[in-house]
Amino acid sequence: MNTTLNVDPAEIAKFSALAHRWWDMDSEFQPLHQINPLRLEWINSILPLQGLCALDIGCGGGILADSMARKGADVLGIDLSSKALKVAQMHALEAQTPRVAYREVSAEALASEMPGQFDVVTCMEMLEHVPNPASVVQACATLVKPGGWVFFSTLNRSPKSFLLAILGAEYVLNMLPRGTHEFAKMIRPSELANYCRSSFLDVRQTSGLEYNPLTKRYWLSDDTGVNYMFAAQKQ
Ligand code: SAH
Repeated sequence: MNTTLNVDPAEIAKFSALAHRWWDMDSEFQPLHQINPLRLEWINSILPLQGLCALDIGCGGGILADSMARKGADVLGIDLSSKALKVAQMHALEAQTPRVAYREVSAEALASEMPGQFDVVTCMEMLEHVPNPASVVQACATLVKPGGWVFFSTLNRSPKSFLLAILGAEYVLNMLPRGTHEFAKMIRPSELANYCRSSFLDVRQTSGLEYNPLTKRYWLSDDTGVNYMFAAQKQ
């Protein structure tokens, strides 16, 4: 299989068109800014990031990558949107973020180049935008050291998710541009668990991320019905 083709150019174009607004807290990226402290603390409570070598796959403008570097990790962020990567680099320069670098390379290509080199790999809100998510999960497993951790987050393909993440967020509340998420590409926890198992990643913890549109607040919960995260460890 030619793994370098595991990308949907329309998805990259979508994120590239908005890239200049990545660090605008009131933009389309507001949800990512709002969930970032929650996911960062969740990761850091499972695996303290200080001094670790981290890779963030599908890093976009660098919201998570930047924050992991501020927790003391050495971070490489990768993406296939050169515009998003430029914004990430610019932000790191302006904010003087230490220990963060960005590269335009696919997860699969980096997996052949740097196998087993990272203590921790994160891949958040990205799997639901790629044609073959299992191949990205496999690349994550190759990139992480034995015993290292991989953290995923994505959107469940459930009726509740259709109502909240697509109808609610894109059509009622206008939190996200219409067409941001495609229902068919969303991933059930059981499917992600299967991809992990096939890649010798043991799923150790899961968490749901819930949102209340009235209070405009997010919190971690046991409900993986919409947005959810997996913490998996390489065997
Ligand atoms: N992970 C970041 C950004 C999520 S937005 C965060 O959670 O804050 C989704 C990102 O995935 C975008 O930056 C988009 O360019 C990237 N992406 C989509 N398909 C990709 C692919 N095949 N390879 C690498 N990155 C991809």
